[in-house]
Amino acid sequence: MRYNIYLCRKCGAVCAGREGASSFTCCFCGTRNNTEKAVSVMKGIESRDVQHVIAQIKLSKVKS
Ligand SMILES: [Zn+2]
Repeated sequence: MRYNIYLCRKCGAVCAGREGASSFTCCFCGTRNNTEKAVSVMKGIESRDVQHVIAQIKLSKVKS
């Protein structure tokens, strides 16, 4: 199973949503986001890499 990485529209948290799903629930604030409207930062991430990729994105956000 693959995931896309999205930014929550409400709180800006970096969260994973299933690829092909029409919505995802924010892992931080619990808001349901429409995947067509949310910003996707990366696509097609393997499930085993999701946590690593999210950690990398958070690190790069802190630096910039
Ligand atoms: Zn959120």
